[in-house]
Amino acid sequence: MNKKQDKKLFYQRRNFWKEASPSTIKKAFAFAEPYMDFLNKAKTVRESIAYTEALLKEHKFQSIGGKKGSRRLYQIFRGKTIAMAVLGSEPLSGGFNMVASHIDAPRVDLKQNPFYEDSSSGMACMRTHYYGGIKKYQWVSTPLALHGIVIRADGSKIDVSIGEKDDEPVFIIPDLLPHLARKEQYSKNLADAIDASRMNLVFSGMMEPASEEKEAIKAYTLQLLKKQLKIEESDFISAELELVPATKARHSGFDSSMVVGYGQDDRVCAYTALRGLLDNLDSTPKRTMIVYFSDKEEVGSQGNTGAHSVFIQDFVAALLRANGESDSSANLRKTFINSHILSGDVTAAVDPNYPGVHERQNAVLFNHGVGLCKFTGSGGKVSCNDANAEFTAKVIRIFNKAGVFWQMGELGKVDEGGGGTIAYILANLGAEVIDCGTGLMGMHSLYELSSKADIYSTYCGYKAFLASAD
Ligand code: MN
Ligand code: MN
Repeated sequence: MNKKQDKKLFYQRRNFWKEASPSTIKKAFAFAEPYMDFLNKAKTVRESIAYTEALLKEHKFQSIGGKKGSRRLYQIFRGKTIAMAVLGSEPLSGGFNMVASHIDAPRVDLKQNPFYEDSSSGMACMRTHYYGGIKKYQWVSTPLALHGIVIRADGSKIDVSIGEKDDEPVFIIPDLLPHLARKEQYSKNLADAIDASRMNLVFSGMMEPASEEKEAIKAYTLQLLKKQLKIEESDFISAELELVPATKARHSGFDSSMVVGYGQDDRVCAYTALRGLLDNLDSTPKRTMIVYFSDKEEVGSQGNTGAHSVFIQDFVAALLRANGESDSSANLRKTFINSHILSGDVTAAVDPNYPGVHERQNAVLFNHGVGLCKFTGSGGKVSCNDANAEFTAKVIRIFNKAGVFWQMGELGKVDEGGGGTIAYILANLGAEVIDCGTGLMGMHSLYELSSKADIYSTYCGYKAFLASAD
């Protein structure tokens, strides 16, 4: 046996930059541009929905319940979750191909009654409550933008976005200066050093000239809020206001081969799935293609917009009706049971500073393509969706046929920690599901890092999977 034949027996992940053609490399770089635009314009769940809906309309998708006869359909539920589909030529009850990701990201929310005048500092501040798995120290002393909506008592809606344009103010939760941090922070462990109750935002500081009022700063700011946003203090109670990094996504690395930006968990999978669907519109697929963006993944997927919600089943039932098929409970179950789903969520790539939390042979590396993950969970695969070997092989066949760069990797070393995705929720409905997404460094931070090779490979993988015929 010569050396070359011997190598054929090995499993080796392939380095995209080493093996991709010059034209493919060019495409990978080009793909990153609109992706970064998406990251900049879709920093919240609602903004992600709006961006997606605009693209769908451009591509002649119809909202379910609208004009009859369309084969391109979508449905938005409560402004926070969306599913979109292209009906196939075969019966939907024979199963669909779906990529399912989530569009919520860790952030810092304003409390429902947030506003107060702080007598010790003589400033007006906003109280916050963080959302999802953040490392609190990352969110202090960094420019934040305020996004969200306020629903006033009469039901009217005010959209808020402050801090994205260069001439708009940004907000800061000030960190303690190192000179005085010895007792308050340095003696504590990392998780406790920043107390959540001290993550108050410095919101404003001015007052009416010559004011003798008791809470003069708060009073003046409430006047400004009324004038500029048409809201009163009580309107905060029915608001969803979120602090997100005010920074924009940027090219990263001397070779610009990476993207740094907020919310790539999991908007990288959402965007690549959306583009995978929209670039598959040339011909009618055999199997119905569905892309699903869920909400609340970072807090457990509960609620009426999380993946546990009845929404996705209701959407598929509506598709069955649109396709002239029975939407009976039995037929809906049969449809899910026959379906193939990629749970599109990010995974942890090996970080040069912390390689020890991974077992490298079974970890995802930057530049080696989209990461498949047979199971997530923690400890002894607790709470995992363990994709079936048959389905794992099927997905690999699809990827190989389409020339997709892919790799298999676990989230981290056994017993190092763990995490989950929405894979098990959809698998509970009977579908074949495997986790498949982009590897990130610095996941859940304000500056998540990804490789353009992997973003593009994720897109290619999703596109091939959605269009696969059997
Ligand atoms: Mn995620
Ligand atoms: Mn996450």
